[in-house]
Amino acid sequence: AGLPAISVSAPQGKFLQLLARIHGARSILEIGTLGGYSTIWLARALPPGGRLITLEIDPKHAAVARENLARAGFANIARVRVGRALDTLEELYQEAAGPFDFVFIDADKENYVGYFERALELVRPGGLIVADNTLWSGRVADPENAEPDTVALRHFNEHLHRNGRIDLSLVPIGDGLTLARKRTS
Ligand code: SAH
Ligand code: MG
Repeated sequence: AGLPAISVSAPQGKFLQLLARIHGARSILEIGTLGGYSTIWLARALPPGGRLITLEIDPKHAAVARENLARAGFANIARVRVGRALDTLEELYQEAAGPFDFVFIDADKENYVGYFERALELVRPGGLIVADNTLWSGRVADPENAEPDTVALRHFNEHLHRNGRIDLSLVPIGDGLTLARKRTS
């Protein structure tokens, strides 16, 4: 459909799905839909009655994703919401759409800290926040690299490292997948 090839890999999709299943996730929030590839991996982890909301800024990506989700049988289970994710996250917060069991962050890197802070409010205590691309092909560890996305991801990693409300692990699968569990106390 002419989309950029920036979805998670199949092994990462499987890993996300397994995480959601182990976690027993019934409600999932995704930030960054693209064509719905990771969305479908996650939707397939849901038990009967489960639900998923995925946020996407680009109406063309959202249209492709809706078509793919419908074809995969998730038209009524997974909803695509179009808009800037910082705005749609605010909407979800105002609507009291949470709490979510599982949040997957995979959109524009410069807003990762903002997405994470919103996700912490929307996820239940004990809930899991997962963020993709946190190694950025290793560039986060290259002090010479000052590209905006690299700087943003480095800042994101430091922000989480300093955060006392989560248990944290950066798993070197795919482009780096950070797991953050919101503490219960
Ligand atoms: N999770 C998908 C890949 C997402 S790619 C998968 O693995 O299959 C990142 C997506 O984030 C793109 O579709 C892009 O349009 C979207 N995006 C970029 N900036 C955004 C913003 N500010 N708000 C919401 N979505 C955004
Ligand atoms: Mg990604």
